[in-house]
Amino acid sequence: MAVPARRTSKAKKNRRRTHYKLEVPGMNPCPNCGELKKSHHVCPACGQYDGKEVISKEA
Ligand SMILES: [Zn+2]
Repeated sequence: MAVPARRTSKAKKNRRRTHYKLEVPGMNPCPNCGELKKSHHVCPACGQYDGKEVISKEA
């Protein structure tokens, strides 16, 4: 079985890990209230989707 001749250097390891994303993708600010929400989902803060479509949340 193949065994690595050299340990992966810190620089090489760090460069590989630059592709690791920090935040969860697919989040956009709500056009109504500006709260960060998942795209293609009803905003959890104001309950709106695509302009109006008020789904609950009103108290
Ligand atoms: Zn909203």
